[in-house]
Amino acid sequence: MAKPQADGAFLRIDSVVKEFGDFRAVDQVSLDIAKGEIFALLGSSGCGKSTLLRMLAGFETPTSGRIILNGQDLAGKPPYERPVNMMFQSYALFPHMTVADNIAFGLRRDGLPKAEIAQRVEEMLRLVQLTKLAARKPHQLSGGQQQRVALARSLAKRPQLLLLDEPLGALDKKLREATQIELVNIIEQVGVTCVMVTHDQEEAMTMASRIAVMSEGRFLQVGSPADIYETPTTRFVADFIGNVNLTDGRIVVDEADHVQIECADFMHHIGHGITGYLGQQVTVAVRPEKISLSAEQPEGRFNQVPGTVKEMSYFGDTTLYHLELASGARLKVTVENDSRDRSNAPTWGDRVWAHWQPNAQVVLTQ
Ligand code: ATP
Repeated sequence: MAKPQADGAFLRIDSVVKEFGDFRAVDQVSLDIAKGEIFALLGSSGCGKSTLLRMLAGFETPTSGRIILNGQDLAGKPPYERPVNMMFQSYALFPHMTVADNIAFGLRRDGLPKAEIAQRVEEMLRLVQLTKLAARKPHQLSGGQQQRVALARSLAKRPQLLLLDEPLGALDKKLREATQIELVNIIEQVGVTCVMVTHDQEEAMTMASRIAVMSEGRFLQVGSPADIYETPTTRFVADFIGNVNLTDGRIVVDEADHVQIECADFMHHIGHGITGYLGQQVTVAVRPEKISLSAEQPEGRFNQVPGTVKEMSYFGDTTLYHLELASGARLKVTVENDSRDRSNAPTWGDRVWAHWQPNAQVVLTQ
């Protein structure tokens, strides 16, 4: 994850709308992004994230609203007049040009003096650690190296805003994870403000200091990766980010420091007040790693339920259990593995008790 940045708007997206005919692809979104921030627009296919990115680049014109970068309204400015550069998923490197020439391309087109071009190319090669491969052609590079050339080319013109469109979509999982961290390090070294688009929540969580979760052209929630994971404000966001148990229930006790929610298989006790009312139907979200398992019934009546192990997925450091409850509903539980002694670990068919703390839940009313 990128370092959080100081407050203040370097990029301001103000009530931006984009309509294609009578279809609203981006629906009145507003956002302030600080200088040097790495910000992710996250959402599933068709949510409008690429359209918003394309408006920042100048490839699409907003139907209404304003985009202000470093105090300057970008309205009416074509892409080439914006201090903005976009790096595409496909890299779009020129196959017949060397790495150095690919990086120099935009600088030559802008007519920069030769000496300055040479100096900037050298600086960029050093930044992405490809100095030794400067004379190679793209097909002589690995996917990760091509990706770094594309980044170097995007940064060579020293844009004020870097846009990344699914930057690592073409890489396999392992390389993608390594490259995510590399990219963040490079972007932070340069200090450029960055907006990226991704449908991959892990990528957004790893790279961005803040994330906007988008659906149907709107921002459902904007916050740090931890905010969005720990305190989702809607069912959609809770479900979209990571693993979660979502259970419908009804508020049966509603006091300032004590709330009870009755669900089909168990009774939630929450140790703090919530914004809800007695009798209200709500959804309760509990992350699987906030639930523990034990062979015996724990003390008390709340925040516990018996179940049968129906499925197990072993991940090395953790195991994800799927328990079947009396109603037939499933409960996911993540348990840290004790690698030295697995003799007590629950296994298929075992009857176990799942239990959780009174601060493990997030109550969702929408
Ligand atoms: P993906 O991850 O699949 O690229 P996305 O979230 O980036 O999806 P957009 O490309 O922004 O989604 O598209 C948002 C919606 O706007 C989609 O329903 C899409 O079909 C529609 N759309 C995008 N561009 C146009 C266009 N030029 N004309 C008409 N509709 C469009």
